[in-house]
Amino acid sequence: MDIKNAVFVVGNTDVGKCPRDGFPEYAFIGRSNVGKSSLINMLTGQKGLALTSSIPGKTQLINYFLINNEWYLVDLPGYGYAQGGKQKRRTLQRIIDNYLCQRKKELTCIFVLIDCRHNPQKNDTEFIQQLGGNGFPFVIVFTKIDKLSNKSLKENIDVYQSTLLKNWEELPSIFVTSSERKIGRDEILNYIEEINKT
Ligand code: GDP
Repeated sequence: MDIKNAVFVVGNTDVGKCPRDGFPEYAFIGRSNVGKSSLINMLTGQKGLALTSSIPGKTQLINYFLINNEWYLVDLPGYGYAQGGKQKRRTLQRIIDNYLCQRKKELTCIFVLIDCRHNPQKNDTEFIQQLGGNGFPFVIVFTKIDKLSNKSLKENIDVYQSTLLKNWEELPSIFVTSSERKIGRDEILNYIEEINKT
């Protein structure tokens, strides 16, 4: 898919204020610092579209970007956010839960981002469990693969898959990406294009 245009539409914490035009939504989520903003910027081909962590005061909103006047890329707040403590984590969790519950109709696929260097983390696997258990369509995106050798990447993905297989008979689709090296862009965009056609 060619990205002809990518426009920031709205950012808020109130799901009630999300767009009402019914375009399909593709949501991106992951732990803080997983590389979500960098991935969104790589996918859209616009460097400053999503604010990366290096920008002070980065807010934790639900950000909507309209792509090609056809679909929304939805940037969800990072979960497991350490700074700000329990209260902040709870608030973010509520925003995410509200989004998932109230946008079921529009929500076409959730891209769960995982830093490929880390062992399975409880809040990631619990979130995946929550998605699978509630029948949400989702895929897993391993980020920052430029940071690992092919061998280590394969080992880490194997560990992840074995962990997931403890609870699931079927594994979700997997994408491997590096925003640094522009890896995985076509695969994700083509995946979205295929779904949009159906
Ligand atoms: P976010 O908090 O999930 O939005 O993460 P950011 O996109 O802001 O990235 C967090 C940090 O990881 C920044 O320092 C990025 O430069 C770095 N980063 C993001 N993606 C990649 C990648 O593909 N490769 C490498 N080497 N670093 C990355």
